[in-house]
Amino acid sequence: MAHPRIFDRRSLLLLLALLLSAGFAATALFGYFASSRAIQKAIIEQDLPLTSSNIYSEIQKDLVRPVLISSTMAHDTFLRDWVLRGEKDVAEVARYLAEVKRRYGAFSSFFVSERSATYYTGEGILKRVRPDEPRDAWYFRVREMKEDYEINVDPDMANADALTIFINYRVFDFDGRFIGATGIGLTVDAVSRLVAEYQARFSRTIYFVDANGRAVQLGAGRGVPGADLRTVPGLGPLIDGILQKQRGSHMFEANGDSHILHFNYLPELKWYLFVEQNASAALADIRRTLYANLAISLVVTLLVVFLAHLALERYQHRIEEMATTDALTGLLNRHAFDILIDKLMAEHRRDPRPTAALLADIDHFKEINDRHGHQVGDAVLKEVARLLQQRLRASDLAVRWGGEEFLLVLKGCDLPEARRIAEDLRQAVSAAPVAVGDLQLSVTISIGVSLYNGTESPDSMVNRADNAMYAAKHGGRNRVDVA
Ligand code: GH3
Ligand code: MG
Ligand code: MG
Repeated sequence: MAHPRIFDRRSLLLLLALLLSAGFAATALFGYFASSRAIQKAIIEQDLPLTSSNIYSEIQKDLVRPVLISSTMAHDTFLRDWVLRGEKDVAEVARYLAEVKRRYGAFSSFFVSERSATYYTGEGILKRVRPDEPRDAWYFRVREMKEDYEINVDPDMANADALTIFINYRVFDFDGRFIGATGIGLTVDAVSRLVAEYQARFSRTIYFVDANGRAVQLGAGRGVPGADLRTVPGLGPLIDGILQKQRGSHMFEANGDSHILHFNYLPELKWYLFVEQNASAALADIRRTLYANLAISLVVTLLVVFLAHLALERYQHRIEEMATTDALTGLLNRHAFDILIDKLMAEHRRDPRPTAALLADIDHFKEINDRHGHQVGDAVLKEVARLLQQRLRASDLAVRWGGEEFLLVLKGCDLPEARRIAEDLRQAVSAAPVAVGDLQLSVTISIGVSLYNGTESPDSMVNRADNAMYAAKHGGRNRVDVA
């Protein structure tokens, strides 16, 4: 029979481990979700809109200069006089256009005459514009336009890396009659540079989308130029909704990552500016922190559980030590005997009365164990202990002294009386076969008897009984010997 336990140590440790790890995990996860929400919020509400508006204002800044140049061209008296004089010397206007292009570093400079439908550049006559030619559609649009000018982005950009913008300015004669369109085309490098920088620094994806939801290549965008973004996984289904609005934010999943998109309509270009951030990548840092926290929590939990295990083991050990009864037989244990014998000795000094010690040992107990097993041995121990205790007085001490050794201390008992009692006990054990299940075992004991001499230590008294017991063994067992 095991010691009765106040608690089950394993369940207690398990509970402790569960509580600790649940607490740690909850704290770590709570922290992770709180900061990931904060980071996402910052991306949606601050980072992306700021990037977007910075790029937008750079674009607006870049557009001011070409508009001014085109305006100057449209109001240039030489150009208007030259048209009104009948567009005679092509070299003259070509020189003028070439000079504008050179001075302002433009990508191209042009004048289209309303009267002759001629398209002039710095190199001379390029072509005649025709209403049925799709590439000339811009001229016929400008001609009907109410505004002084338009900003037109080259749909098939010659230079894929840079944004090429045409300013188409309406030209009037001195009486306010429309006589053509002039302007320059130029690449807006600053915007490209800014876009590239933002992409590199914040690992954002920045690109332009036209009003039909098609990709306009500039930097690292999504899809090839002209590709319909409605076909892009994750982003595609959002496009139609986006094209209804001026600006906003969306979250979408693609390739296992979540992305945050900010979009902003740029009326000057009639394009949308898309700024995307891979939220999963942005959260990688705090995810690493989460894993580190969880690992630390695990280590701390294991450490605490281990220390608790050690403490409990020691505690339990002490409790067992402190227990006064032997778990198997219910007799006093040696620890209890040590305490009680001191009391008994003190009593003896106050009131000296004869005191006897009986040491009983089961004969050939090993054989019982070997033949029938430990459990049968245990049952025999219990039964012998019961038989012994039954015959003692309440004031006597019955101690499980060793494996199959019992020490009995009899108060107020002289030697003849002690010998008689020992003999009585021996007979009682040998007379009654011990029943264990179906087994009937005959068990005998050998007993050594000693009388306390009034001066010796308890150990000495027990030793003398022990010697007498050994004498009884040598004398053939199942007998009583006196020291
Ligand atoms: P004898 O005393 O007659 O010389 O022979 P023995 O067989 O009893 O000798 P010994 O003292 O060497 O053997 C004692 C045995 O008791 C050895 C040990 O395994 C066994 N024993 C000790 N404590 C317990 C116990 O709590 N339960 C059981 N089943 N056996 C125990
Ligand atoms: Mg023994
Ligand atoms: Mg024995």
